Amino acid sequence: MAEIIDGKAVAARIVDEVTRHAAELAASGTVPGLAVIIVGEDPASQVYVASKSRKAEACGFHSVQHSLPEATTEEELVALVEELNRNPAIHGILVQLPLPAHINSGRIIQTIAPEKDVDGFHYLNVGKLGTGAIGDGFVPCTPAGSMLLIQGVRGKDLSGLSAVVIGRSNIVGKPMANLLLAANATVTIAHSRTADLPAVCRSADILVAAVGRPEMVKGDWIKPGATVIDVGINRIPAPEKGEGKTRLVGDVAFDEAKQIAGAITPVPGGVGPMTIAMLMANTLASACRAAGREPPA
Ligand code: NDP
Repeated sequence: MAEIIDGKAVAARIVDEVTRHAAELAASGTVPGLAVIIVGEDPASQVYVASKSRKAEACGFHSVQHSLPEATTEEELVALVEELNRNPAIHGILVQLPLPAHINSGRIIQTIAPEKDVDGFHYLNVGKLGTGAIGDGFVPCTPAGSMLLIQGVRGKDLSGLSAVVIGRSNIVGKPMANLLLAANATVTIAHSRTADLPAVCRSADILVAAVGRPEMVKGDWIKPGATVIDVGINRIPAPEKGEGKTRLVGDVAFDEAKQIAGAITPVPGGVGPMTIAMLMANTLASACRAAGREPPA
C-alpha cells in the first residue's frame, strides 16, 4: 500500500517558515505585498482568489485584492497592472486566470513586471526555468509545489529515474517537465496525441498527471513503487452524498493506484495546498530581493 503524501502538512510547514521570515523582513522595514486581481464572477476563481488573499494575510503580508467587473476592458486591466508594477509596497502581482474572453490574457501576463511575476508566467521567467537559471526567477507555483513533494519522497537528485508528465500546458505540464529535467530525471511529456498512454505511464518511476480528466489514470497504468503526483482537480457528481451533491477527484483513480504506487498524493489535500504555499514563498522571495536580501532556501 502506497505512502499517502500529505501535501496539507508540507504546505503548512512552508507557510509557517514564510510567516517567520516575513516577520523578520517586516522588522527591517519591508512588509511583503501581494496584489491579486480577479475579473468577473467565475465562482471557482472567486474561491481560489479569496483563499490566496486570506493566506497572504495569515503570513503577515500586505494583501490587496482587486475584484473587477466582467465588463472591465483590456486597457483598464493593463493600466491597473502597470500601476501595481510601479507600487513599491507590492512585490507580487497575480492575475487570476481564466480572464473573460474579450481580454487578451497573454498581453496582461506580459505586462506584469518580471520581478513581480510570482506566478512565473512571464516569458522572462519561463525562459529562466527553460535554461536552468532558476535561482533569480520565479517557478510556477503548482509544479514548484509538486516538485517539493516528489523530492520529499525521492530526494533532491533524481538521476537514473524516469519521469512521465501527462499534460503539456504552460501552467503545469511544461514547467513540471523542466523542473524534473533540472533534477536529472529522464523526462517524457505525454499529451492527448500520445500513443499507448498506459504503456508510457507504466515506464515511470515518477508519474505526474496534469490533465483535467477525472480518474483517467488507472491502477494498472502505474509501475509498482512509483511516486504518483495527481495535479488534477475535477468536480464530479456524488449522488451518494445526496441529490445534486458533488465531490472532488483527481486525474488518477486513487483507490486503485494506491495499491500499486510507492507514494501518491490525494485529491484534495495533495498538490492543491502546495500551490498556495508556493505563491506565498515566491512573494516572500520577491520582497527579499526588493530589500536587497537573499531569499530563504
Ligand atoms: P490544460 O487543459 O491546460 O492542459 C491539459 C493537458 O492534458 C493538455 O496538455 C492535454 O493535451 C492533456 N490531455 C487532455 N486529455 C488527454 C488525454 N485523454 N490523454 C492525455 N493527455 C490529455 O490543463 P492545466 O494544465 O491547466 O490543468 C490540468 C489539471 O490540473 C486540471 O484538472 C486543473 O484543474 C488542475 N490544476 C490544479 C492546480 C492545483 O493547484 N492543484 C493548479 C492548476 C491546475 P493537449 O495539449 O494535446 O491538448
